[in-house]
Amino acid sequence: MIHHGSCLCGALQFEATADPIDAGYCHCRMCQKLSGASALPWAAFLVNDFRYTKGKPKVYRSSAHGQREFCADCGSQIAFRDSSNEKTVEINVGTMNEPGRFPPRCHIWCDSKVEWFDTDDDLPRYPKSGPRDGA
Ligand SMILES: [Zn+2]
Ligand SMILES: [Zn+2]
Repeated sequence: MIHHGSCLCGALQFEATADPIDAGYCHCRMCQKLSGASALPWAAFLVNDFRYTKGKPKVYRSSAHGQREFCADCGSQIAFRDSSNEKTVEINVGTMNEPGRFPPRCHIWCDSKVEWFDTDDDLPRYPKSGPRDGA
């Protein structure tokens, strides 16, 4: 099954040719700042399963090893890559055309969760990045 996605204005389009290997909510301050939301749902795909099919993202280096890819026209935040884990790319689930296909499996960086925000689930909650590198 191919999963399609795009930014808000449509200048960037992308696809994933396989299901994600992981998915979750990120509660880190960087994701809060870049999305303007209390938490950011992400899905991690193998890099070889993901590609842009239209447009080229602008890249922002958010840390020594992390980069964020976004649309220079409308500002939609699409992807996170970590140079210390080059096997995966994490896509912000809200930019997928069918976000319902990617239910979260965990919560990461709960140390910085917004106090009034929570979700009614029994998913594992990790204070920091969890068992694998998070978003
Ligand atoms: Zn756009
Ligand atoms: Zn984050």
